[in-house]
Amino acid sequence: MKNKIHPRIGITGGIGSGKTTVCHFFETLGVPVYDADYWAKWLIVNDQELKTAITALLGTDSYLPDGSYNRPFVAQQVFSNPAKRQALNQIVHPAVETHSAAWNAQQIENGALYTLKEAALLIESGNHKKMDLAILVTAPEELRIERVMRRDGLTEAQVMARIEAQMPEAEKMPMVDFIVFNDGHHSLIRQVWKIHQHILQKYFGKR
Ligand code: ATP
Repeated sequence: MKNKIHPRIGITGGIGSGKTTVCHFFETLGVPVYDADYWAKWLIVNDQELKTAITALLGTDSYLPDGSYNRPFVAQQVFSNPAKRQALNQIVHPAVETHSAAWNAQQIENGALYTLKEAALLIESGNHKKMDLAILVTAPEELRIERVMRRDGLTEAQVMARIEAQMPEAEKMPMVDFIVFNDGHHSLIRQVWKIHQHILQKYFGKR
């Protein structure tokens, strides 16, 4: 008999913590991963209803004549206007939620037992409460800086500015069910395997 519950697990972490790296390990175990940040960007350009709503909120300059998103213009509009930023989020988040729910149903249909949703702002947006469980990936700040500088070719100051714009990892820790330590000392694959086993046991009674 098919299990009725197919948990959705949220996974988050600050810039350079290693979310994507950890998600790859889950994928090798056959767990599909929804990349919320990627799909939000995709929907902003491809979802006509969302485009109309963004244009109504911020004006026709939100998109360039070729249909691409005018990110610098939008950033400038919402940067110093928290009410507008919130209004924009309230348009984009439900669109991502609808899209991810459909994606999720498809994965379950294809035989997945559970799925992951990777989102940088999972906790800030309050979306961790909609998940069955939440995972935080964490790494020491020096390592995050070093990894992002190498990956994105940024300066230390540029990475620091991004880190400081996010909620501190220590504040996120009490809000999640699992913490993955990506500090170069703890084995990632072992930590992922333990969480995977825990989920299978909790929801499917198997190991
Ligand atoms: P962002 O929020 O910026 O997307 P992220 O949390 O998804 O970042 P990753 O992209 O997984 O982080 O990792 C950041 C960089 O650090 C990548 O280049 C990745 O290959 C590298 N990295 C992550 N974990 C490790 C590790 N344990 N050992 C070596 N390199 C690592």
